[in-house]
Amino acid sequence: MSFSPGTTTSGTAKPKPPKPVAAGKVYLTGAGPGDPELITLKAVRLLGAADLVLIDDLVHRAVLEHARPDARIVEVGKRGGCKSTPQAFIERLMIRAARAGNIVVRLKGGDPFVFGRGGEEVIALEAAGVNVEVISGVTAGIAAPAAAGIPVTHRGLARGVTLITGHTRDGAAPDWKALAALVQAAGTTLVIYMGMKNIAAMCNELQRAGLSAATPAAAVQSGTCDGQRHVTATLATLAAAVAGARLASPAVIVIGAVAQLARGELDSAIRRAA
Ligand code: SAH
Repeated sequence: MSFSPGTTTSGTAKPKPPKPVAAGKVYLTGAGPGDPELITLKAVRLLGAADLVLIDDLVHRAVLEHARPDARIVEVGKRGGCKSTPQAFIERLMIRAARAGNIVVRLKGGDPFVFGRGGEEVIALEAAGVNVEVISGVTAGIAAPAAAGIPVTHRGLARGVTLITGHTRDGAAPDWKALAALVQAAGTTLVIYMGMKNIAAMCNELQRAGLSAATPAAAVQSGTCDGQRHVTATLATLAAAVAGARLASPAVIVIGAVAQLARGELDSAIRRAA
């Protein structure tokens, strides 16, 4: 196929006009990892139409500048350990508002389907007969490492990435052996959300499960935000490095060879070899 000036290709074709924003509907919307510019155009458009906005506390308040001045804004977040708005209350509020014909935007940090309870909310809304759509966002587990210079996959260093939570409602322990093997044998990166409280125990468990103590590791706090900080260490020293730097939530933990690519931490010889 030859291209001449003026040829229309799919790359230059006009995009479809966006779907109109529907009344009586809930948009489960990702707000991105923190930097208010890392929100999608779609989220901005929906915010501009919303009658009701429910906002989680990890979402940067600057994104509310896209909301209508007369929109009702409800804060529903929780901070680690503090009281959260009960999930049932949030779901009831969304159901009632949508049934009354409102456009509802449920703004969640990062991506709504990555440790955001988005799946549960879709199920509850659909069970109530409420129209719901998920608007993906940029997840912190990829954006926070990137902001610190860490690519979660990298040719020759990591052929995949596993996203896990360090905190479960029932306290169930993950399969450390399987996770250690994914990093050690399969050469993939492990990204842990909500893991700061249990960081020392998790690093120990991974070593007991066979992951080398020398495995590069990093923690990135407030990735993409003004207060962003990170430390790099090894699996054996990460917990102490985090404590020494007083790193705290929200932070993601990165375990695997790519952690050595963090900005400011890298010996240029390693970078050339990578
Ligand atoms: N749905 C969100 C994750 C919610 S769980 C997403 O897709 O990003 C909350 C956890 O996300 C935090 O405990 C922390 O591990 C991580 N997190 C959220 N924002 C972060 C940020 N700016 N920097 C580092 N980690 C962050």
